[in-house]
Order: sequence, then C-alpha cells, then structure tokens
Amino acid sequence: MNFENNLAFAQALDAQDDLREMRNDYLFPQQNNKPLIYLCGNSLGLQPKVAKEVLNVQLNNWQNLAVEGWFEGDSPWMFYHKELKKLMAPLVGAKPAEVCPMNTLTVNLHLLMVSFYRPTAKRFKIIMEAGAFPSDQYAIESQVRFHGFNPDEAIIEIKPREGEYTLHTEDIVKTIADNADELALVLFGGINYFTGQWFDMPAITKAGHKAGAIVGFDLAHAAGNVPVQLHDWGVDFACWCSYKYQNAGPGGISGIFVHEKHFNDTSLHRFAGWWGYQENKRFKMEKGFVPEAGADGWQVSCTQVMPMALYHASLQLFEKAGFIPALRAKSEKLTAYLMFIINEVNTVLCEEQFKIITPKTAADRGAQVSIIAKANGKMIFDELVRHNVLGDWREPNVIRLSPVPMYNSFEEVYKTGELLVKICQSL
Ligand SMILES: *Cc1c(COP(=O)(O)O)cnc(C)c1O
Repeated sequence: MNFENNLAFAQALDAQDDLREMRNDYLFPQQNNKPLIYLCGNSLGLQPKVAKEVLNVQLNNWQNLAVEGWFEGDSPWMFYHKELKKLMAPLVGAKPAEVCPMNTLTVNLHLLMVSFYRPTAKRFKIIMEAGAFPSDQYAIESQVRFHGFNPDEAIIEIKPREGEYTLHTEDIVKTIADNADELALVLFGGINYFTGQWFDMPAITKAGHKAGAIVGFDLAHAAGNVPVQLHDWGVDFACWCSYKYQNAGPGGISGIFVHEKHFNDTSLHRFAGWWGYQENKRFKMEKGFVPEAGADGWQVSCTQVMPMALYHASLQLFEKAGFIPALRAKSEKLTAYLMFIINEVNTVLCEEQFKIITPKTAADRGAQVSIIAKANGKMIFDELVRHNVLGDWREPNVIRLSPVPMYNSFEEVYKTGELLVKICQSL
C-alpha cells in the first residue's frame, strides 16, 4: 500500500480501521492535561477500563465468601484458571490443556527448564540468541551451573553477522546442526526485545528437533503480538508474561505452554507443589506427588486470584477484538506506517537521522520499531517524552516505539513523526 505523510491520510486509515473503537476500552495516562501517545505497550500494556471493576468483584468475593470463595460464588477460585485457559489457548495456537496461568515469567522459565533441560555428560549445550533479555540469560546461566556445567562451554549464543543487528535463520539452523551431538536444548525468544526481530520459530523448532534437542521459546514479546502456532509447530514448551502486549498489569501472571506430547512422560522432573497435584484429590492431602493432567500439573502454589482476574479481563478484550488474526492485520499496517513515517522524517531532515534496526518485512517483526539516532539519541527521546510521546529508551542507544493495534491509531503514528522532525530541527 502507498502511504502518505499527512494528517488527513492517517485519519482516513483510522476511519477504515475496524478496531478503532477498541482504544475506548483502555485508560491513557495524561501528561500536561493531555493524553499521552503511548508507544510503550511492548513494555507495559495500558490498563483496561474494566480492571478496577474486576478487582472489585474479587475483593467483594473475598469480603463476602472469605475461604468459601475457593468453592462458592459465580466463579469459584479453585477452577477460575480454566476460564483463562480457554482464552489463552487461541493467543498462542495451543489446546486449552496445554496452557496454564501461573507465577511470573522468569520463575516459569526455571520451572520448565527443570523439566526440559536434562543435560548429560554428552548432551549438555543450550543454544540461544546473543543479546537475549537479561533475565533469560541469568536463568539459563544459573540452570547450567546448577547442573554442574560451565556456562562458557554449555551456552552457545548466536550473534548477528559483522555490522548487522539481526540474525539470519540459516545461521541459526546451521549452528544448531553444527552442535547436534552435544545439544540438549534450544531456548530462544520469540521476538527479541531489543531489535524487535521475530525469529522463524517453525524453522528453529524443526532444526532443534532434527538435532535431537528440546525446543522452548520465551514469548514475552510475541504472545498477544504475532500469530504463533505452538501446538502445530511442535514446540516443546514456552512461557510468556501477560503485562506487555496482553495488558494484564505490572507483575501480571505468566502463562506456560507444554506440548501435549509430553503429558504422559512420567520421567520428567518437576519442582512440585500442591497446586500441581491431581485436582480431584488435591484436598485429600496425601503423601506422594501425582501431577494433574496437562500444563496444570506444573502449577506449584495456589492460584493468584487478583492477577488472574486482571488477565481474564484483558483476555476478554482480545476475544472482543477477534483475537490475533484481526489484531495482526491492523498491526502489520500500523507498524509499516510507522516505518514509513520514520523514513519520511529522514527525508524531511535531508539525512539518515534515524536508522531502523527492526526487520522491515512483516514476517520478521511484530509491533515494535527500534531506531537508532545518528546523534543525540537520549536527548531526542527525552524531548519526545516531554511532548507527550512515550516510547522507551534501551541502553546503549535504541529508542523503541511500539504501535499496539489494540489501542494505537494511525493518527498517533503520524503525529509522532511530525514531532520527531520538530525536535530534530530544534537541536
Ligand atoms: C519482559 C521479559 C522478561 C521479564 O521477566 P519477569 O520474570 O516477568 O520479570 C523476561 N524475559 C523476556 C524475554 C522479557 O521480554
């Protein structure tokens, strides 16, 4: 599609957008008595308007039912997670039995590695992307040490080629094949937080399995953003947080995925707790752990009702929007428009002031555009914020702008470009 860099054109795109009303379901922070242009949904999604109400419902349940709330009321806490599973499954291309809301993301990475990183003297290596989110690096490094291996030998990080920012799928596949004999696990991000690159998950999964390894993904930046088919792709396990593109609030509950091919594998280690015990016998309080079937068997502690209520409310808005197919159709266009606008900014300024490091093709990215300013990056970022455009700054030099299809508009993208020109001209 041929984009134009003017307000009328952006407004026309908004007028054609079937999801344009969805933004009315969210609360926008105000600054100087004006709503922010919020381009930071990749870090913390906006608050759904119903959030206060759903929390109040649970506070009232707690007040009126107290401990009986576990088994009584409209939606007893004991089974509440099942309502979420139904809505989480379509977001990641899974069966409801394969997903479960629990804990927080890094905790779940550890719990899933307990089951799926089972190194032997011969097969002990883990392949990941270089520059993964630090929490993943620390989790993987500490798991390797926990099993008595040396991270320098056991962890293989795939780096971009000289002078590039993102990875080539062929380099990933080749590294996997080259290490096939010693490889225990391929653990990749779905989308890299820094560059916004969406990795070729099916190709990575296929290569990992061909090498005889287990394949897992951290979907922190992918879940709720791009279409993934964890079940059909045969991914072994995955986890994600709900507070980025899924708008479930700071510290929101995480989701896990375990492929059903692993459900009957009794040899898998788990760090168990009572909430993973067979549901219909959980309160018999018997000795000897017997897991509940499916992903639920990885639960450890009792259900976190308040964070789950927030996630439930947010998932219902995904359902209202038509889940990922509808959101992605808008997202591809909205992000392409932002990339077009950044190029227009360069054109108006008569120099390549901003370099886009996120892949240009839709198949290789989600709703995030990472840009590097030729000069004064942090100053430009601070000016954006001062003028009501909130993206985020990632050390050492990247401005991340994330137009989220759920609540951002083409007009906001246009205005961001207009502002970038003004800021750069005034520097
Ligand atoms: C956001 C993010 C995290 C954060 O982990 P928490 O345990 O939720 O604090 C971890 N990994 C990746 C890849 C992320 O993007």
